[in-house]
Amino acid sequence: MIVTKQKILDDIIKKIKGSVFIFGCGICSDTSRTGGPKEVEAMRKTLESNNIKVNGAYVIDAMCHLQKVKKAIRDNKEGIESSESVLVLSCGSGVQSAVNSINLIDKHKKIVSGVDTMFIGNIESLSSLKEMCSLCGQCVLNETSGICPVTLCPKGLLNGPCGGMKNYKCEVDENLDCVWVKIYERSSIQNSLEDIKKIASPKDYSVKQPVGSIKFKGSH
Ligand code: SF4
Ligand code: SF4
Repeated sequence: MIVTKQKILDDIIKKIKGSVFIFGCGICSDTSRTGGPKEVEAMRKTLESNNIKVNGAYVIDAMCHLQKVKKAIRDNKEGIESSESVLVLSCGSGVQSAVNSINLIDKHKKIVSGVDTMFIGNIESLSSLKEMCSLCGQCVLNETSGICPVTLCPKGLLNGPCGGMKNYKCEVDENLDCVWVKIYERSSIQNSLEDIKKIASPKDYSVKQPVGSIKFKGSH
């Protein structure tokens, strides 16, 4: 899931022009506690207490799903049309779903992002989200026994450990186990030490698409 954090309220308010309609996202922003039903309602009350008229609010189950966003815009036409601004409490992908969809009906409407997009996170518990993949576009998990050095080593080292590892701990943060020790231990158990004995080449960023997109053949 995409992890987000709310922007500073004053910064959001400064960007809102006139009255506003609020969109939330029922998947990632709900789990991040930045744009689910509770946070959307709290934002509505906060904006109203700052004398900003709120013409409606709606939580879409996935703001990154363009077709769902278009349908939500049709279903909330009145509230959106009567607002000068639309505040979106979802990741940057969801904000751009709103920009693309609302642009088709009104190019002048101000779209305001209410959160900062942080990382793709694994849900450890309802109150703990952890980054385990940074979407590098050239996955090395098959060579590292399924543990990601790109994300979990603070230096992103493809060949480790670095010279700073001490007592199996990371030199950048001594509270962390060195991820390359974990990779070594798991590779030993998995009989795949040969994989990490090979020097990994620098990542080939030329294979990464400048703008990530994928098209599937046929229906799902
Ligand atoms: S190497 Fe790490 S950052 Fe890259 S795709 Fe694999 S898990 Fe994600
Ligand atoms: S000690 Fe290990 S985890 Fe820390 S920066 Fe060096 S290689 Fe990466």
